[in-house]
Amino acid sequence: MCSARNSLAALIAAGFLLAAAGPAPAAEARASVPPAADVRTLLNKPAKKLFGHQKTPAHLPPEPIGFYSRGCAAGNVAIPLTGPAWQVMRPHRNRYWGQPRLIAFLRKFARDAKRKVGWRGLLIGDLSQPRGGPMLTGHASHQIGLDADIWLTEMPGRVLTTKERNTISATLMTLDRKRINPQRFTMRHARLLKLAASYGEVQRIFVHPPIKKFLCDISRGNPDRRWLAKIRPLYGHNYHFHVRLRCPKGAGYCKDQGDPKPADGTGCGKHLAYWYSCKPWRSCKIVRKGPPAPPPKLFHDGIPLPRPRPRRLVPPPPKTLAWLPKQCRTVLVAP
Ligand SMILES: [Zn+2]
Repeated sequence: MCSARNSLAALIAAGFLLAAAGPAPAAEARASVPPAADVRTLLNKPAKKLFGHQKTPAHLPPEPIGFYSRGCAAGNVAIPLTGPAWQVMRPHRNRYWGQPRLIAFLRKFARDAKRKVGWRGLLIGDLSQPRGGPMLTGHASHQIGLDADIWLTEMPGRVLTTKERNTISATLMTLDRKRINPQRFTMRHARLLKLAASYGEVQRIFVHPPIKKFLCDISRGNPDRRWLAKIRPLYGHNYHFHVRLRCPKGAGYCKDQGDPKPADGTGCGKHLAYWYSCKPWRSCKIVRKGPPAPPPKLFHDGIPLPRPRPRRLVPPPPKTLAWLPKQCRTVLVAP
């Protein structure tokens, strides 16, 4: 990690970062990297466009920079599209890039899952873009090369064609926001998730709330339930689960999220109850007891009352390159 920072520092010193008014760029670097003045013109451009169109990684030593939902990644590498116990899905998205430690983790997890759970292989969804950063579509996180989506569908016993990988649908594991589909989500899935949570480098795993409830229920009475703390309920995870690795030791630009520390040690109590309430769900209607509310008053003394105007939701302006950690400017323009 140290060498990576040195390397970033070298580029910064070479004038590829606005923050440093360093010496003039070296001649060979000048040939392939836009000078600082060019980077300055990009600062107010939407970061998702700048990073979403990158086709290749920044050839710098590996370094996750910033936070999972506000950062980028130097030195990402691609996971092979087909491995001994995995296949990459949706390859046309070009999101099969990650920090070498993420790729090493996926190799190990796929191998262990096959051996210990009898899981034929992983279907791997989105990791990061070649240089990480915000994406043009989907995902608030996955920006620093330490997040991986893994389908809850087991890999078939053959190599899928590119067309199949880009079109086959994942299997929905839930009936609704409160219930899993017991025909689809089985004890094997539970063992796969427990295995994923067992690695020290994994900091949290996101699953749909009823999946967390299922894991809590089946492990009730078991003396070792600490692993459940890592399993975090979050909507949108009913086809896949999301594994997040902690910041590596010595990665000075990586902003660690900290380990989940639910008060009850597992998150099976209050935290899960929150996800079973209406609060986190936009489409959830709170059922009130008692008589129905009276209709709104339209007139007062025969005079029409002003009607509340529907709130117009103005989307926030897109996040710009300037919003990302400044080292991401170097990652963006590095060869
Ligand atoms: Zn994800």
